[in-house]
Amino acid sequence: MATYILGHSNPDSDSIIGAISLSYLKNQLGEECIPTRQGDIAPETEFILNKFGGTLPELKTSYAGENVYLVDFSDIAQAPKDIKEATILGIVDHHKLGDLTTDTPLECWIRPIGCTNTIIKEMYDAYKIEIPKDIAGMMMCAILSDTVIFKSPTCTKVDTKAVKELAEICGIEDYKALAIEMFIAKSQVEGASARNLNTRDYKEFDMNGTKVGIGQLEMVDISVLDNRIDELFADMQKMKEEGGLHTIAILLTDIMKEGSRLLTLSDDATKVENAFKIQLENNQAWLEGVLSRKKQVIPFLQPQF
Ligand code: MG
Ligand code: MG
Ligand code: MG
Repeated sequence: MATYILGHSNPDSDSIIGAISLSYLKNQLGEECIPTRQGDIAPETEFILNKFGGTLPELKTSYAGENVYLVDFSDIAQAPKDIKEATILGIVDHHKLGDLTTDTPLECWIRPIGCTNTIIKEMYDAYKIEIPKDIAGMMMCAILSDTVIFKSPTCTKVDTKAVKELAEICGIEDYKALAIEMFIAKSQVEGASARNLNTRDYKEFDMNGTKVGIGQLEMVDISVLDNRIDELFADMQKMKEEGGLHTIAILLTDIMKEGSRLLTLSDDATKVENAFKIQLENNQAWLEGVLSRKKQVIPFLQPQF
């Protein structure tokens, strides 16, 4: 029986590439694995797959009765609906430990570093398995994406070292130039609906029994969205109602200015204000230096609930 590898819902590059890179490793180790994804890919991931000739993992939304490995998440809110009917063989992740539990012992590779693909790189090294050129290039891009080209406070020496080694394997010297190209692809907003923008990198969290949704758009220049703010808010209101959310927040992260424009709608906005020690104006605020949802947003918002 094959085992499926999947990343979180609304998959980002780390989730998609992680499914691919971990599957290859597991197959090399004699464990038949198939990379899958829970949803559509974003323009950034498309850029990476095209650049290195990667194959898009198959779309799969039901995993009942299957064996699975999870990459880049361990939260029920980001899992397929029937995850409790699947057998979780292992988790490779770099987020806070989520609320998934298992009935059987599992393999766990969880580290507080910048990217799941950095951990997978360490797994290749530990098992002494050679990383193919194309997979190395994709893993390198996933790390550059998750660490915002090393600018994110989540980035560690382990991540920069992994990028340098992967760059050598895939033969790309100027990986920073490639990363900028990748972020420009990621910044493409023309023709995208408000829903597409709000959910491109969107996650829901259970904060002490309360549902909170947090989306993030990482861009080289967020001012291109200046004339779409009302439209984003109107769709956020719909998402809040549809999802029964207490709070929804969208971060427009400017990777050059190194900060985020926060848009939020909440049943109790003082929770958001207290979390970031800010005063909201028209449900908005500028969060200087904030690039990371997992390190600079969730740990401050969670204690408010
Ligand atoms: Mg991710
Ligand atoms: Mg990640
Ligand atoms: Mg990210």
